[in-house]
Amino acid sequence: MITLFLLMKVDTIIVGFGIAGLNYAEQLRKRKKSFIVIAPVSESASHLAAGIINPTVLKRINPVWRSEAFLNYALDFYIDLEGLVKTNIFHPLPIYRIFNNVVEQNNWSVAASSIPLKKYLNKKLILSQKYNGIKAPFHYGEVTKSARVDNQSLITHYRDSVIPIQSITEKIDHQAIEIKDDFIQYKNIKAHKIVFCEGYHSVKNPFFKYLPLVGSKGEILIIQCDSLVEEVIFKGPIFLSPMGNHRFWVGATFERTDKTTQITSKGKEWLLLKLKQFLKLPYQILEHKAQIRATVIDRRPLLGRHPKHHNVYLLNGVGTRGVLMSPLLSQWLFDFIENKVNLPEEADIKRFEKQYFRN
Ligand SMILES: Cc1cc2nc3c(=O)[nH]c(=O)nc-3n(C[C@H](O)[C@H](O)[C@H](O)COP(=O)(O)OP(=O)(O)OC[C@H]3O[C@@H](n4cnc5c(N)ncnc54)[C@H](O)[C@@H]3O)c2cc1C
Repeated sequence: MITLFLLMKVDTIIVGFGIAGLNYAEQLRKRKKSFIVIAPVSESASHLAAGIINPTVLKRINPVWRSEAFLNYALDFYIDLEGLVKTNIFHPLPIYRIFNNVVEQNNWSVAASSIPLKKYLNKKLILSQKYNGIKAPFHYGEVTKSARVDNQSLITHYRDSVIPIQSITEKIDHQAIEIKDDFIQYKNIKAHKIVFCEGYHSVKNPFFKYLPLVGSKGEILIIQCDSLVEEVIFKGPIFLSPMGNHRFWVGATFERTDKTTQITSKGKEWLLLKLKQFLKLPYQILEHKAQIRATVIDRRPLLGRHPKHHNVYLLNGVGTRGVLMSPLLSQWLFDFIENKVNLPEEADIKRFEKQYFRN
């Protein structure tokens, strides 16, 4: 019997297809670089995420690190992606932060007049009477430049209609990757370079397991609430975000010790308790899920080149802001790899190089 071994040549192998892998694929597609994706179709953190784009940290009322650059790039990027996949995945939606007392109202008002935040926050208080069914005795503060991306639909449609059909829907076997000086070979695929976008699973990647990826588990509920408005993302002690057809995303827990994707009754009870504090309408629980966020010890992304192999790269550590940050991070990485543009120091994995050589 003759076994056919057809060698496939591409510029880049992308490993992982959550929001980070998708964004990197899009950088390559736009620049007409050939690529192949290796990733199982199973759910990842990106599928579970609310997909909220929020340039602010609502607890402390601060802007996110480099908020303006990330936000402007992401908004254009997702609008273009929506056109590409021909599906409604981008939903501009305000966030209504529920105030607990007058001090919070005052802090908001000061922040909304400050230079870094006035472009994102509405100075005018939004009165609680606007919506029935939400408990907000001290009214709301509005984040105006926020949105929700339907990650699940985006990933599914992009996979089905954009990525090359030869792409592999299994986990990569890291041991089977051959790294040569001028090419990478994985089974019958030969490439100039490989970019790993495996989210928290990267802790098992032999090339990058030296990096301080902490990981934090998040549990969420999806509920059906027929009488709640769908034009606003509410932020009380947790988020309550519309998903369409009267379904809402409720979350999330933040747990650093348990690194499994098992749902827990403790997580569910906590979410229900927090929800009860502000939702007064009847609802039905449809789903309960959990995933791990790829969070990093210093809360900055992990981008760059492997300390030893010049053709092995990483796009990871997007933490709690993957949807907001991945578009621009993927462009930074592309420019670093293809155009020799330096990465911002705070995001470059060079900052952890000592750990690699110590191991
Ligand atoms: C509960 C929760 C709520 C969140 N809400 C938000 C939000 O509202 N807004 C926001 O911006 N972010 C949010 N996040 C964070 C966001 O989900 C992450 O930042 C982002 O999804 C991470 O994307 P990623 O592509 O790096 O990783 P992932 O989404 O985890 O994707 C990793 C990919 O790698 C693949 N993979 C893993 N191992 C292998 C292997 N060996 N071979 C091949 N493929 C492999 C996986 O199958 C998957 O395709 C939330 C996260 C959680 C858990």
